[in-house]
Amino acid sequence: MPNAVITIKHGKEKAIQNRHPWVFSGAIQTVTGNPAPADVVCVQTHDGQLLGYGTYNPTSQIRVRMLTWQDEAITPEWWRSKLQQAITARAGDQAQWRNGTPNAVRLINAENDYLPGLVVDRYGDWLVLQALTLGIDARKQEIAAMLAELLQPAGIYERSDVDIRQKEGLREVKGLLWGQEPPDTIEIIENGLSFPVDVRHGHKTGFYLDQRENRATVRRALESIAARRVLNMFSYTGGFGVYALAGGANDVINVDSSGPALALAEATVKLNGLDPDAATFIEGDAFTVLRDYAAHGEQFDAIILDPPKFAQSEKQVERATRGYKDLNLHAFKLLKPGGLLFTFSCSGAITTDLFQKVVFGALADSGRQAQIVRHLGGSEDHPVALTFPEGAYLKGLMCRVV
Ligand code: SAH
Repeated sequence: MPNAVITIKHGKEKAIQNRHPWVFSGAIQTVTGNPAPADVVCVQTHDGQLLGYGTYNPTSQIRVRMLTWQDEAITPEWWRSKLQQAITARAGDQAQWRNGTPNAVRLINAENDYLPGLVVDRYGDWLVLQALTLGIDARKQEIAAMLAELLQPAGIYERSDVDIRQKEGLREVKGLLWGQEPPDTIEIIENGLSFPVDVRHGHKTGFYLDQRENRATVRRALESIAARRVLNMFSYTGGFGVYALAGGANDVINVDSSGPALALAEATVKLNGLDPDAATFIEGDAFTVLRDYAAHGEQFDAIILDPPKFAQSEKQVERATRGYKDLNLHAFKLLKPGGLLFTFSCSGAITTDLFQKVVFGALADSGRQAQIVRHLGGSEDHPVALTFPEGAYLKGLMCRVV
């Protein structure tokens, strides 16, 4: 059991009792026992009642990341069983994990799988690990060894090159953690379509796995309205665009500011035997492209808007809403009657309610009329712990213009 004890100020224990995993510096009354950075510490109320155990980081505003709210020892066996629990929830037994499709899955979704700061994604025979907190960073070799034992991957590659690590006092790092180097691209299969994924240089851990089920929704919906002309904004490596082609669209325009992402998108169209003449790739700024199309009176059967995170924090919410409104306003103008808009926000600081209000504001300004057909969220391998509302970062709306 740890020697160090973190005592919480009277009146600040409620969130921890409700099993929220973050203990902010402002909630702490005293730190005793001289914990070293990344040590497991005991967390207690002002009058000495146990709240649980977590990892300590004196550099971060989030001083403790709770691992458990029970009286239990954080042993290697504890870590192994937490990893196993998350993996089992995804794929059942290991045999299924080996042979299953999709063969690209988020296996561990950090706080939402009760492992604060640890993300593990599977791409074919490789695992990609992100260590977002000091508590995980200090144990990543040990965790990688356990994952290797549990899953027998070909290799485990680390993609901890994310700026959020600064807040934990960590530098950005990436590289091989265990086993063999991954190839330049790993081919994954998702809903019957193939995607080459560059786990070394791609965004996040290589692919937007959180959008898997929304991509399938888009394909189905486009088939049902026999959509021909589709605009895929913020296309990255063409995920939604490839699904649109597979769903029968014959004029799919993919727009992204990243040339390498678009090159991979183009290769993916060919890899799937889809008509390369039906796809266009435009490297440019989404806001400018949308304005330009609106000025020229272009019309589409469907538009996908999947921008990057506009609000990194509460402070940026207002500016972000202006960005979302501008995009959605132009998208509504560009849709034919009966046309579909799939619009997303992956900003944790923008709530589902606020996002819907912003889309409503855009609709009002566009002079169009539209219905919400479906609310969209992250895929099933990205569960959100009910005790951690911050985990629900991805939200979206499928709207039909009438
Ligand atoms: N829809 C994609 C993921 C999109 S991520 C999928 O399902 O895979 C957001 C993308 O927006 C990134 O590829 C990024 O390169 C691109 N991007 C960021 N700012 C942009 C801008 N101003 N104009 C166009 N693309 C932009």
